[in-house]
Amino acid sequence: MFSALPDQPEDKILKLMQMFREDPREQKIDLGVGVYKDPDGKTPIMRAVKAAEKTLWETETTKSYVALAGAPEFNDAMVALVLGDAVPRAEAACVATPGGTGAVRQGFDLVKLGRADATVWYSSPTWGNHVSILKHMNVAHKPYRYFDAATGEVDFVGMIADLATALPGDVVLLHGCCHNPTGANLTHAQWRQVVELLNERDLIPMIDIAYQGFGDGLEEDAFGVRLVAAECPETLIAASCSKNFGVYRERTGALMAVSRGGADTVRAQKSLAYLNRQNFSFPPDHGARLVSMILTDEALKADWMAELEEVRTGMLALREQLAAELKRLTNSDRFDFIARHRGMFSMLGLSSEEMDVLRESHGIYGVSDSRINIAGLNSRTVPLLAKAVAEVVGG
Ligand code: PMP
Repeated sequence: MFSALPDQPEDKILKLMQMFREDPREQKIDLGVGVYKDPDGKTPIMRAVKAAEKTLWETETTKSYVALAGAPEFNDAMVALVLGDAVPRAEAACVATPGGTGAVRQGFDLVKLGRADATVWYSSPTWGNHVSILKHMNVAHKPYRYFDAATGEVDFVGMIADLATALPGDVVLLHGCCHNPTGANLTHAQWRQVVELLNERDLIPMIDIAYQGFGDGLEEDAFGVRLVAAECPETLIAASCSKNFGVYRERTGALMAVSRGGADTVRAQKSLAYLNRQNFSFPPDHGARLVSMILTDEALKADWMAELEEVRTGMLALREQLAAELKRLTNSDRFDFIARHRGMFSMLGLSSEEMDVLRESHGIYGVSDSRINIAGLNSRTVPLLAKAVAEVVGG
């Protein structure tokens, strides 16, 4: 049987990581993989996470199963973090999942259960795993225009035109904030227009929010997801704690199904727990418990928010520095969008050949679609990147 297994495509980001490791040059810069790195290139454990872990070690008395839906205090804390007071708690079904990926995967599973003939519309481009999971699950999917590589901005006219062709009952996958891979995000006014279109055409929003707190702030980054959840009859939300709590390997996330309460929310909650049972049974607890300990303890929460704010403003400063350097070196405003983008990524709008030159001649490793991880930079390496990019696009 194993010999009949199809070859699996290579993951281009993992391949890039390997090439980086094997590159002997000292000046090399890794802007590939999507993890936050501090100015020393480390992915630290956040202070509040470390403190919560210590308390947990001292106080946890059993590792027995918790609940199919995960710990209720985690689900409450996540609904509060993501949705604020946009909807009453009773309108949000929620379960813990293994990371944001688990939530995304299971969101599609719920679509299959509830509306098997729906097409899932995804932004072009989107996080590679969205499309790969949809394919793997045999869920019909289609791209909608999203990014204008020439301007570095959202192609909103294209987006609305494409979504206007979606059929009633189709699902529209949106990034809550900090779009991966482009870094280009909807304005408040555009979110409102999207909501109008969703409701006019009877489309179901599914929002993937994996970087809350990395863009304009914890509350600001939730603007879109809160608006959609309050205004649309039904919303699916896949939330990840990997980045904003730095608990990547603990696999911590949540899947929410928001509706107007009553029987539908109860049915959704039961279906979410059922899907947990089918896919992995009980969700991981360690990371989720750390998150709920932090979010329900005033001092820990304040410390977490302060550290997250340092992370966010650090990335913003790097964006400003990079945009300014590129403006100076290219004598143009072509790369000004880098300062307007938000989150960990920006898509530079370079060709894959130009990205090859960056890697081969300058030791700078970005993804071939020209996505770079802003957090892979520091104030010393920004000028190196800017000089290399200016050279590559200049001649
Ligand atoms: N959605 C998006 C858009 C992401 O970028 C990521 C992380 N790369 C995830 C979901 C899921 O992350 P995780 O499973 O590590 O929580």
